[in-house]
This record gives sequence, structure tokens and C-alpha cells, in this order.
Amino acid sequence: MALPEWLKKRAPQQELLQEMQRLLRSLSLHTVCEEARCPNIGECFTRKTATFMILGDRCTRNCRFCAVKKGNPLPLDPQEPENVAKAVNKLRLKYVVITSVTRDDLDDGGANQFAKTIKEIRKLNKGAKIEVLIPDFKGSLSSLKKVIEAKPFVLNHNLETIPRLYSEVRPLANYERSLKLLEQAKELNSSIYTKSGLMVGLGETFGEVIEVMKDLRRVKCDILTIGQYLRPSIKHLPVKEYVRPEKFEEYEKIGKSQGFLSVISGPFVRSSYRAKEVWDKISSKKIKQFSLPNLG
Ligand code: SF4
Repeated sequence: MALPEWLKKRAPQQELLQEMQRLLRSLSLHTVCEEARCPNIGECFTRKTATFMILGDRCTRNCRFCAVKKGNPLPLDPQEPENVAKAVNKLRLKYVVITSVTRDDLDDGGANQFAKTIKEIRKLNKGAKIEVLIPDFKGSLSSLKKVIEAKPFVLNHNLETIPRLYSEVRPLANYERSLKLLEQAKELNSSIYTKSGLMVGLGETFGEVIEVMKDLRRVKCDILTIGQYLRPSIKHLPVKEYVRPEKFEEYEKIGKSQGFLSVISGPFVRSSYRAKEVWDKISSKKIKQFSLPNLG
């Protein structure tokens, strides 16, 4: 299927990419921007933002939409939390997004490394806000607790798609389990904002997306991102539909009427896309029903 006009983007400037890549390699760090071949990499790296990917670069799951390497993961790097903190410091980031591969081979799913990374960032970068985009930890409440106790500013977990498509898109994941994780995060600490994301264009219907949005509001999810699924390679799931920009606008309108604090919906939207700006916009609205916690 040929790309429609609204999905054409200019190739990123090579010098900028290389400068950022040198910094990341010098600290043995990975970003999901590179590993998942994100179409926004030029824009985000130019603005010196990136989503750091911890727990190595190999994922133990086999999601059929994702370009991150699969296979036997390497042992954890004990320097990783400190190195992420150093990169945040060098880039002078005020808002940091940390994600990971899924590590079903680890007893805690990598929760401890998330907690350590949050603490190290905070030590070296006073006032930086930290968003974590976590895996489902196979539904382990104790793993989730470890992350929540480290007090991220935003806890993000993507549902990715509608429940009917889980077996095809995320065969080792479970819709109800993911929803439960978001619910438990709020129950454990209601002052931490929760966020989730969906890809569209995988064969879902408009009504099915609205149902997922309702499920998310039922578990008090605060922020939602919706973006177009783009096939990373011929080995990945094909795109069923290039969703028109007007439909994304419609999702945004409906989401806002359902009570989300923010809905970011558009063809190039990714879970971490302009995460800082999204937050800046929310906080400037000073929405009365949400008190703004000072978690640093
Ligand atoms: S949208 Fe997120 S994953 Fe993509 S380049 Fe930007 S920060 Fe990286």
C-alpha cells in the first residue's frame, strides 16, 4: 500500500543523528527511537530528546508490530542506571522518558532496574520529570510496586491495540492484564499520572477504539496517545488502513469528552512523542479536578 501524502516525512539530517548516536554509544545506551525505527527520530533528536531503552536491546516477546530485536537477552548492565542519568545530564533534559524491552527471563521483569534508573536520574538531575513506559511484568504486583515506590511522574503502559487483535498483534500479552496494571498503578499511588497508547490501522473498527478508550477511563487513565501503525519491515504485520487525519481528530475530541486529561492523536503520534510538551500543556491548563503533585 503506497504511503498517503499525510504520512510523508523528510529524511532526518545525518549530522544531528550521528552526534546523538555518539553520545549514546559512549555511554553504552540504547533508545527505542533507533531500535523501533521511529519515524520521528529526526525531529526528536534535533530537539535533543530521546526515549532511553533500558534492560538491554533484546526483547523476550514476539510482538508482530515491533522492530526491537528479539532473542536471548544479555545480563543486566549494572552501570545502566547511572549512564542514563549521565546522558540526561549531558542533554540537559527536563523531561525524561525511560522504557525497556520486555524481560520475561528476569524474576522481577526488570522492575528493580527501572527503580534504580529513576533514582539515579533524580540524584544527578534535580527537578527533571520522569516518565516510565513499562512492560506488563507478567502481571506481577510486587514488580509494579517497586516502580511505583520510586515515584515516577508518569507511569505509561501501552495497550497498543484493541482486545480482538491481541492474539495476532501481541501474542504473549493479555489485554485484561495490561488494563489491570494501569488500574493497580492508580490504586497504589493516585498522584502518579497514568498514560497509555494505541496504534491504529491494524484492522480495528472506530467503535472498538472507543470501547478501549472507555476501558481506560474506567481504570482512571489520565493521558492517551493514538498513532498510525507503520510496518517496520516486510516481516512485520501489514498495515490494514492508513487512518485519515480527520479520524484522529475525532478520536481526540471523543477522548477529551470522556475525561482524559490529554489525548494526543495523529498519524505520527507515538507513545513518547513530545511527552514534555504534552505535560507542559496539561499543567498550563491548571485543570481543577486534578491536583498537580510535586514528584520532581
Ligand atoms: S517519538 Fe518517542 S520513540 Fe519516536 S523518536 Fe521521538 S522520543 Fe523517540
